[in-house]
Amino acid sequence: MQAVAIVVAAGRGERMGAERPKAFLELRGEPLLLRAARAFEAAPSVGKIVAVVPELQIPAARERLAALSKLLAVVAGGERRQDSVLAGLRQVPPDFDGVVLVHDAARPLVDVELIETVARQAAATGAALPVLPLVDTVKRVRAGRVVETLERAELGGAQTPQGFRFALLRDAYEAALRAGVALTDEAMAVERLGHPVYAVPGSKRNRKLTTPDDLAWAESVVAGMLRT
Ligand code: C5P
Repeated sequence: MQAVAIVVAAGRGERMGAERPKAFLELRGEPLLLRAARAFEAAPSVGKIVAVVPELQIPAARERLAALSKLLAVVAGGERRQDSVLAGLRQVPPDFDGVVLVHDAARPLVDVELIETVARQAAATGAALPVLPLVDTVKRVRAGRVVETLERAELGGAQTPQGFRFALLRDAYEAALRAGVALTDEAMAVERLGHPVYAVPGSKRNRKLTTPDDLAWAESVVAGMLRT
């Protein structure tokens, strides 16, 4: 069964300092949301795509995504990222027996190979995400004082797409909501239930674009001036 991809693009992107929401900024003439969604359109494991955008941007997003044959719905997101993901999950038929892939529109350079790897691993195990090893040594700092140096070999940066069997993610989200837990990614909800979550190798190219510097970096990558 083919996966449903939920691309979340409803953040304000304040750190980008731009006037429009981050996912609508353009990379070589193409909004980040469209670039990210096109990768899922090209991924053989994906059957449908749900885009989650700010309410005011729904008409513009529908127009920009109209050429995608896999588009299932464009819906309004919520205050927090987890509310936006929930809005996307509500578009998935309740009896869907496959995998959902949740992806940040702010990672527009995701490639098909990574999507396929996550989808395959999620179908096999229930839950998978890309993790990128850290290059810096990580310190725990309290009130300006270092209290601990963490074991770098055990640490990694979580990326998206994060893939899950639909029923598992839905149950995990409902449980987290009931418990009032703030989620910074989807895997966290599943980890809370004690269900194993598997890591696949993340990619540098799949970086989340947060600041104007990140956007400039992505422009260079797309222009072929930088290798990742
Ligand atoms: O804010 P952050 O960079 O963590 O956002 C990651 C992704 O989640 C972005 O693609 C953003 O548009 C999305 N998001 C959302 N709804 C929110 C906040 C973030 O869809 N309320």
